[in-house]
Amino acid sequence: MRPVTLGRMTVQKVLEMESGPPMPLILPGITAKDLERLAVWYRDETLGPTPEQSAFMMSMHSYVLQLDGLTVLVDACNGDHKRRSIPDVDRVETPFLANLSRLGLTTDDIDLVLCTHLHFDHVGWNTRLADGKWVPTFANARYLFSRRDFEHFGKQKLEDDHLRAFRDSVLPVYEAGRAELIEESLVVHREIGDGIWLEPAFGHSPGNFSVLAECGGERAIFWGDVVHHPVQLIRPELTMSFDSNPEMARETRLRTIARAAEEALVCFPAHFRDPSAGRVLRDRGAYCYRFLDER
Ligand SMILES: [Zn+2]
Repeated sequence: MRPVTLGRMTVQKVLEMESGPPMPLILPGITAKDLERLAVWYRDETLGPTPEQSAFMMSMHSYVLQLDGLTVLVDACNGDHKRRSIPDVDRVETPFLANLSRLGLTTDDIDLVLCTHLHFDHVGWNTRLADGKWVPTFANARYLFSRRDFEHFGKQKLEDDHLRAFRDSVLPVYEAGRAELIEESLVVHREIGDGIWLEPAFGHSPGNFSVLAECGGERAIFWGDVVHHPVQLIRPELTMSFDSNPEMARETRLRTIARAAEEALVCFPAHFRDPSAGRVLRDRGAYCYRFLDER
């Protein structure tokens, strides 16, 4: 993704890695006909003619949003050296920090870390290992976490990757006194005509947020895990297998997609493959996605 400029706001992407589980595992109910409709406007070498021959290929990346001297990291990927049960992300080492420095930024330059939600693939880089301990990676940053997710994973008994991530990538930040827990909507930054704020987009996780930003009449949305893959624009009503509250996730997904199209929001999806950024369009009752850059 090339840097995106909206008014005086810029958005850049920091790639970590890609991961592509089998399509039927993530989106049961998707059909060959759906993939045929998707192929009209989206090409991807990991998609075949049938769901069984297709991967649900996701990019793992963060966005760096800069506005009015504020540098914000939206989501924090998987992180290095984190012990996970999913082989694709278990104790990985990725060029994430090298990719951040390619933007001319160090970890000290991040003022604010906004985790749209607290799943393991959005919190990993919150911490890194220093002398055998997990410490906040972004030494000067304030971290904003969803209170609903924080309380949910804080009480969870099931020993899964989300709980492991809570322990190694969320709690150490909280215990270092660097985290703020967000209840509902929150304005993070406001100048005349400019703004960054959080809105509830609950359902995929109990407390998933969308981050919205505007400048010079242009408006951007970082919707976290409301939509993971372009194929969900073909069948937005289908449950994604990691949706924690399927009914609420469906309602949030439908509402967010409709709004993105109506308001011509510039979308920065958490898992769409490069070049990621684009707009949702509505054409004769069906949705499609147009990337800002050519694929
Ligand atoms: Zn995710």
